[in-house]
Amino acid sequence: GGAPDPDTVRARDRRHVWHTWSPLSADRSRLTLARGRGYRVWDIDGREYIDAASLNTVCGYAHPHVAEAVGRQLGRLHQFDLSLASHEPAGLLAERLSSYLPEQFAKTLFVNSGSEGIEAAVVIADGYWAHLGRPRRRVVTFARGYHGSTVINRSLSGLPRVRHAFSPALPVTHVDLPVPPGELHRPESLAPLLSAFERALCADADDPPMAVLVEPFLNVGGGVVLPPGFLKGLSELCAATGTLLILDEVFTAFGRTGRMFACQREEVLPDILVTSKGLSGGYVPIAAVTVHQRVHDTFRADPVIGGLRYGHTTSGHPVACAAALATLDVVEREGLAERAERLGARLRDRLGALAGTGEVTDVRGLGLVLVVELSSAEAAAGLVSRAEGLGLLLRQPGEAVMAVPSLTIDEEGAETVADLLEQAVAKGAS
Ligand code: PLP
Repeated sequence: GGAPDPDTVRARDRRHVWHTWSPLSADRSRLTLARGRGYRVWDIDGREYIDAASLNTVCGYAHPHVAEAVGRQLGRLHQFDLSLASHEPAGLLAERLSSYLPEQFAKTLFVNSGSEGIEAAVVIADGYWAHLGRPRRRVVTFARGYHGSTVINRSLSGLPRVRHAFSPALPVTHVDLPVPPGELHRPESLAPLLSAFERALCADADDPPMAVLVEPFLNVGGGVVLPPGFLKGLSELCAATGTLLILDEVFTAFGRTGRMFACQREEVLPDILVTSKGLSGGYVPIAAVTVHQRVHDTFRADPVIGGLRYGHTTSGHPVACAAALATLDVVEREGLAERAERLGARLRDRLGALAGTGEVTDVRGLGLVLVVELSSAEAAAGLVSRAEGLGLLLRQPGEAVMAVPSLTIDEEGAETVADLLEQAVAKGAS
């Protein structure tokens, strides 16, 4: 057939699609996308945008290496249940993940989304303590954290948008930021933040936490950059108190923050590392829970099956594993982590001048994540909407506006992101 009629496509969406995390009054069909290539997407009317809104596009759209790998695996073995058998893509991907980490991190459990990965990590932490014969259940985490949308994940968050009627599913101690989000990245915020975690960890000597769970960058929680040294200090607190450290690198892993994993900036290793989005660049859904051997081995003591009672029929889906292996090839071959570090630093230098102008209160970031904070959520929404009018798609976590372009973006594309952001800010002031 010919090209679809845009009005028909939009009307169908409005009639039938229940959009995730959206007010019923919002018309998401206003932006209806038709295709993507590299760091750009096109809508159904043929309008071109730079996509700086997608959290998982590390290697952009329609990358031939990934597309070919996915097609090849689809035609070879598209599925099999890992609870019964194995296949080569799962082994290759688990091996690849362990190759980026010390040898104690040889074991990976596969699931299908970041939410499932975090839920599995919590189940694993609970099992670890149970199998050691010292049950623990409490989790310490940021009140502003976001770890996904299942009931356990939602209990972990203190964000009003995320709390759920069934929460709390487990006891959680929420740590509030000791300073406003725009000030947290300053070195002087480190001591008060670590003290807040120490208080939460040691709140009740009779009820020690089973785990501390944090993101290395608070994405949904407001584009919050943590002070340098935080992960290092936190891992020392965990070691001193015998608490497991679970890192939610669902968004930050695979180059986004200028390293393969954000924790490598501070040479910190968690006990459980959860990754997703960038793992397969969004080509096929997949998430990975990579654990320290010591944690894995306690599951021999499980009284029912002597192993982990957890998983999905589609866990370690061969096509998703193939997409991830190809994505990681691109991340490595094209040096995407170094590129994110270099381009991100340059854009922050350039856009730093916006801080204090008009409604902009702060400019910050980490690797190729740019955060512009505004005086209100309304001002942030206005900036996102003006940028979209100029051909730049952005995210809006609360009062912040975030630009997360594909890590394959070239220098010219990166400068265009900065140009368009500056123009959108200037338009708001006039
Ligand atoms: N953890 C973090 C840090 C995230 O940013 C997200 C998604 O935005 C999740 C977990 C949940 O992942 P998913 O949306 O794949 O369930």
